[in-house]
Amino acid sequence: MVKVFIDPGHGGTDPGAVGNGLREKDLTLQIGTRIKNILTQEYDNVSVLMSRTGDQTVSLTERTNAANSWGADFLLSVHINAGGGTGYEDFIYPGVGAPTTTYQSNIHAAIIALVDFYDRGKKTANFHMLRESRMPALLTENGFIDNANDAAKLKSSTFIENIARGHVNGIVKSFNLPKKATAVYHTVVAGDTVYSLSKTYGSTTQQIKDWNNLDDNYTIYVGQVLRVK
Ligand SMILES: [Zn+2]
Repeated sequence: MVKVFIDPGHGGTDPGAVGNGLREKDLTLQIGTRIKNILTQEYDNVSVLMSRTGDQTVSLTERTNAANSWGADFLLSVHINAGGGTGYEDFIYPGVGAPTTTYQSNIHAAIIALVDFYDRGKKTANFHMLRESRMPALLTENGFIDNANDAAKLKSSTFIENIARGHVNGIVKSFNLPKKATAVYHTVVAGDTVYSLSKTYGSTTQQIKDWNNLDDNYTIYVGQVLRVK
């Protein structure tokens, strides 16, 4: 089981950066929560712990202590930038090697591929979240809240979804997370020529080998929902 610690930056009495009607602490919680939900709903072999799940005040030391005592395999700290720039960048601790550098490359590339942000590059910084965590750690800065163009993008729920999906895609690649096997259903329609369907009785599934040679034991009818995978 891969343990991913997700840290939505700021929160509670600390709003983080503010601009264009947006607060960093709200955006980081939206993105972090969405990353958690996609990972746990769509992938197997992963468990997620968050440093906060609401608008709570959590110190930086409390955050890294939580990740360290949980024994996380990876720490992801999500932030929004400010200070007069534009675009996306991410940070690892200076001098740290693989696999952290590989995780940074994977996540950076996945976000840039999916998100319409200027690429500011892969960087290093002596940040608390990177220095005090005992596992590979990455801090992402997702656009500038005080830049009108970036802020307009951050107000779009589709854009937020893409930021979250970008993070997820990079994590999935880094840790080889398998997709959950999702059931596929087929509703029988007149003229169906589908072979090898499964017929579902409550919780059990009975395989039907040949759609065109059903015997009287099978009561397939138009509108019936069959599980086919
Ligand atoms: Zn921040």
